[in-house]
Amino acid sequence: MINKNSKDGISDKLNALSAYIEYFLNNNLYFYDQPLTELKGGSKVIINGREMGMFASYSYLGLLGHPRINQAAKAAIDRYGTGTHGARLLAGTLYLHKELEETIAEFKNTEAAITFTSGYVTNSTVIGALTGAGDYVFSDTLNHASIVDGCRLSKAALVRFDHNDMDHLEKRLAEAPAGSTKLVIADAVFSMEGDIVDLPRLAELCRAYNAWLMIDEAHSVGVLGKTGRGIEEHFGMDGAIDIKMGTLSKTIPATGGYIAGRKDLVFFLRHFCRGYIYSAALPPSQAAAAGEAFKLIIEEPWRVEKLHENSTRFISGLKQRGFNTLNTETAIVPIICGSIERSLMLTREVQRHDVFVLPIVSNAGAVPEGSSRLRTTVTAAHDARDIDYAMDVLYKAGKATGILG
Ligand SMILES: *Cc1c(COP(=O)(O)O)cnc(C)c1O
Repeated sequence: MINKNSKDGISDKLNALSAYIEYFLNNNLYFYDQPLTELKGGSKVIINGREMGMFASYSYLGLLGHPRINQAAKAAIDRYGTGTHGARLLAGTLYLHKELEETIAEFKNTEAAITFTSGYVTNSTVIGALTGAGDYVFSDTLNHASIVDGCRLSKAALVRFDHNDMDHLEKRLAEAPAGSTKLVIADAVFSMEGDIVDLPRLAELCRAYNAWLMIDEAHSVGVLGKTGRGIEEHFGMDGAIDIKMGTLSKTIPATGGYIAGRKDLVFFLRHFCRGYIYSAALPPSQAAAAGEAFKLIIEEPWRVEKLHENSTRFISGLKQRGFNTLNTETAIVPIICGSIERSLMLTREVQRHDVFVLPIVSNAGAVPEGSSRLRTTVTAAHDARDIDYAMDVLYKAGKATGILG
């Protein structure tokens, strides 16, 4: 039994963090893990007994809690139960999984699709299934952590290129041995910045250097394109992406991840991707909920339009008030604060006025040193009044904390 005060490396780490966090807890500057107790329609939530405007949600189209999605999940439980008989290749596959994969393939305009138990598992295991020793994987420096981990799990050489810098990527591609197997990976919409990857040039480079292109659409499905189908629709470049990865945990209010692409690619992953083979199938309720959500995106197109309107209102309003929102063009809107302390002080001040926002601090590794920020999000569930109120609260708090001059 380890003594709490012992001096081994693990105990040292635990003690150091506890001491560090204690300071933030004592000063009401700790905001993680606050339990939500009620979903109030989508634009508002009850947290710690208080009704707050929700500006940290991934439910970009406001589908979380949609009666038809809830009903689909309940019906699936009544029919199939709460779990499955196991992993997909063995006894775990349900008719529901097949239907969901067909729905995704149709939505993403590909021959086929395969689902996984999370987006994290998808990225962290698909890259290593497709590439190995002697191959080259090219990854944007601001790609999501699950892609970073997927690259680590592959035996391929990892080559990082500067964020959304296509000249740098071209240089890197040119340095790789001719004839080598190459896979280029980027987020469609970067999760901490909200900016959009330069798909036109990226796709052109992949063609020129004979590289496969994998794009993570976690924050672009439901967000980009006139009908919310994602980044190819946004740029009018159908078929530009070889491996379309996405999650079922953001705009689609369930859990799970997927790859959409060629039939032979999907067939290969079913037999060689460890994250698919060695993890239980998606629970029936989640598969059913996800399937219904894709249908709703198509049947209720006003949601995508409303999200576009709301994002434009929020981003331009924050800029007018003097905030630095980087190059965002989407529903993810960073508000740069600089130091960790400032991002925490701004969060405290804004939450005090019942607007739920969260800080992303630079020492956790998700964003570069000195660029601590609020990572706010806007959704189709907000109306103009909600957004204007949040912006006014942010403005006053920005002044009070010295983030705005
Ligand atoms: C959230 C996210 C994931 C992981 O998806 P989960 O379904 O939550 O595991 C992968 N990539 C990006 C860009 C994400 O934002």
